[in-house]
Amino acid sequence: VADRPAPAAGQAPASAGPLIIAVGSGKGGVGKSTLSANLAVALARQGLRVGLVDADIYGPSQPRLLSTEGRRPEAKDSKMFPIPSPFGVGVLSMGHLIDAGKAIAWRGPMAAGALGQLVDAWWGDTQVLVIDLPPGTGDVQLTMVQKHKPAGAVIVSTPQDLALIDATRAMDLFAQAGVPVIGMVENMSGYMCPHCGNVSDPFGCGGVEQAAAEAGLPFLGSVPLDLAIRQASDAGQPPAAGDSPQGAAFARIAARVAD
Ligand code: ADP
Repeated sequence: VADRPAPAAGQAPASAGPLIIAVGSGKGGVGKSTLSANLAVALARQGLRVGLVDADIYGPSQPRLLSTEGRRPEAKDSKMFPIPSPFGVGVLSMGHLIDAGKAIAWRGPMAAGALGQLVDAWWGDTQVLVIDLPPGTGDVQLTMVQKHKPAGAVIVSTPQDLALIDATRAMDLFAQAGVPVIGMVENMSGYMCPHCGNVSDPFGCGGVEQAAAEAGLPFLGSVPLDLAIRQASDAGQPPAAGDSPQGAAFARIAARVAD
């Protein structure tokens, strides 16, 4: 996507439009944005033309994660062009439209309207649009599932009980709207101490795989709690862009999603 020339003014997006994959979670802070960015980059590395919409309107983090901070999208005919990231994924985020550090205090309908502009942009021949949803089940999520009809949803949770209960609510939202849940991802599962090599489970382990089995959903894989993931993410270098073991974990999940 990044290397593709932008469509000429007035050119309509591909008739069918990209397939939308929504990434949701019940709770914040479970790694939904990290997974969305790495899923998009890994899918692009697997040969798909991929875009990413940061629908986490109130706490956009994709500009940082995909190294497009401070960029502003260009627009033609009141539609925005995605900003090419260095990782082959075009991205649009509220973070590209507001000044860094400014709070967004919109009511639900305004936020949902803003999401529409990010999704109905010049995505051209993008095949897959990954949407990083806000946590929970509010107006933005509802608009997303009702109006933009994702082809599927990925739910991310930590193995912790509370996060899992909330994840179940997020799954209900998709089920009620007839959006198939592609599967569940366990993030922050198992922590290997970089000093002593001891593996511990701060948030438990295996809970998401069990929850997926109980819900009759595919389990797409787990990502360990790993300092290297946090550091790379903060530096705007998604692990999925490289060939580290951390990147491989995201690549495996992406391969299952692409299936
Ligand atoms: P959410 O989108 O669910 O709010 P984020 O993706 O923003 O969560 O992640 C929250 C914080 O946790 C970020 O600082 C991120 O770098 C970190 N993080 C996410 N997943 C991992 C992981 N597997 N290992 C270490 N840190 C992680």
